[in-house]
Formats: sequence, structure tokens, C-alpha cells
Amino acid sequence: MSWQTERRAAGVSKILITEQELQRRIYELGKELDAHYAGRVPLMIGVLNGAVAFMTDLMMAMTTPVEIDFMAVSSYGPATRSSGVVRILKDLNQEIEGRDVLVVEDIVDSGLTLQYLLDVLRRRNPASIEVVALLRKESRAAVDVQVDRVGFSIPDEFVIGYGLDYADRYRNLPYIAVLDPAAIQSEAETAGV
Ligand code: 5GP
Repeated sequence: MSWQTERRAAGVSKILITEQELQRRIYELGKELDAHYAGRVPLMIGVLNGAVAFMTDLMMAMTTPVEIDFMAVSSYGPATRSSGVVRILKDLNQEIEGRDVLVVEDIVDSGLTLQYLLDVLRRRNPASIEVVALLRKESRAAVDVQVDRVGFSIPDEFVIGYGLDYADRYRNLPYIAVLDPAAIQSEAETAGV
């Protein structure tokens, strides 16, 4: 059994976006961002923990000099839907006043998390603020939130891999996959839910 088959066996029902598709699209986004930020030094803000893989590959697809920082906000916990209640768990290490800020998100679902984050960041007076999200669930957008660039639009299914988790697992899959509902069930049983 190859390591990929082994990984699929543990809770993955189907691969939605392969490793190669991810890398090709991220390279394109990197080139777009290079053109957009020519002559400037954007501050990339990664939203922990989900955006770590995307942020890493995206910044390396860019030749523009960039600086990076991270924020962590609460989102789902063990459930698979946004509560709409957002909390800052880790703030930035620096001021962003006058900076060209590029927010790097893993996935926009209802848009509530991103909307909250953008409100917080806009109050700090950056010179500009743009958003790049790897994934967007078009059908679920509950709020009209600013997203300037999207890697892939995906159907309304709960996805894992490439930074995205379910109960903090699966982040290290190199592709985006749909979680097997049986894995949710067994996790719930283990937790006694
Ligand atoms: P929103 O506030 O837009 O509904 O949710 C955004 C956050 O919820 C994302 O940053 C991500 O942490 C989480 N999320 C939304 N959809 C999914 C999904 O399909 N899979 C995973 N693993 N997390 C998701």
C-alpha cells in the first residue's frame, strides 16, 4: 500500500483537488500577486492554523519581497459549521498602519470569520488590504465579504487536507479531500457525543 493510499484509507472519501492542481494554481496566484505588488513589500498575514500550507507555498511562488505575520482566530472547534462567534486567539506581532496587507485565508465558507478579521484589520489603518483565499464555497456565502483572489471554488462539502483539519487532524495531507462522514461519526463516538 502506498503512503497516499494509506492516508486515503483514514477518513478520506474522495480527493477534490490533487497536489499537482494545487501547486499549479498557487504558482499562478503567486505570479498575479507579483504583478500586483510590483515595487511594494506586502505584509502577508496568514490565518492560523489552516492557512499555513497555502501561505508557505504562496510566498515561495512569489519573487516580490514579502514580510509575514500570523493571526489566529477561533472558528469551528469540533463541529463542522461556523458559529459566527469569532475570537482573536493570537494577534499580530507588529503594527500594520501604512502597510500593504495581504490576508491569506484557507477557506471562506459563510464569510463570517473573514469579515470579522477584516473589520479588525481595517481599524488599524493599513495603506491597502487585499484577500487571497485558497478555497471558497460559493453556495454558502452568507455575507458579502471582500475576497480579491480565490484559488478554487468548491461545492458545499466539508473538506480536509493541505492545512485544513477535522478535529485538528488531516492538516498534513498534500491534497484537498472530502472527509468521509464515517470518520465524523467515529470521532463523535470517541468523544462520547
Ligand atoms: P466561515 O466563517 O467563512 O464560515 O468559516 C471560515 C473558517 O471555517 C475557515 O477559516 C476554516 O477554519 C473553517 N472552515 C470552513 N469550511 C471548512 C471546511 O470545509 N473544512 C475545514 N476543515 N474547515 C472549514
